[in-house]
Amino acid sequence: MSGGLLGQCGLGIWPSQYVTLSALIVAVTMAEMQTQAVMLEHETAGNGVGELHVQLFDSRDRMRRAIMAWLACWGLALVSVPIIFAHWVLVPGFLIAGPFAAYRYYHMSAVPKKISGICPSCGQVLMLSMETSDQLPMWRYCSSCNESLHIKAGMAGQE
Ligand SMILES: [Zn+2]
Repeated sequence: MSGGLLGQCGLGIWPSQYVTLSALIVAVTMAEMQTQAVMLEHETAGNGVGELHVQLFDSRDRMRRAIMAWLACWGLALVSVPIIFAHWVLVPGFLIAGPFAAYRYYHMSAVPKKISGICPSCGQVLMLSMETSDQLPMWRYCSSCNESLHIKAGMAGQE
């Protein structure tokens, strides 16, 4: 039986399994980066320009990421089997999450990574990391002067 092997995969090992599987998804994708012009608006100091760095995935990348995401979820379901009590929730949860995660990754053709530019308020170089779910326009704080900036798509002067 596989009891010996699975028995070692207790609660303690679970987060590291998760990190390994997530890293795997990122590692297998060699995607192309693209930059788009963005406008950084400050209430009183005016506008600055910046660049939005977007990672693009072609259909092969997307299919690969979708398969990896599905496998990662089902892998986690398997790893969750020996976790007492929590496995009643985790195992079916990850089994159901598999196809949903695959669907989500397959439809992710462009993922925002970061915004770079010059802060219109303090003039310092600005580097803001972005979440996958972030969408323009959005409000962010400058990392140097802490002023709030309204970040919009497009070149300065366009409305
Ligand atoms: Zn600033």
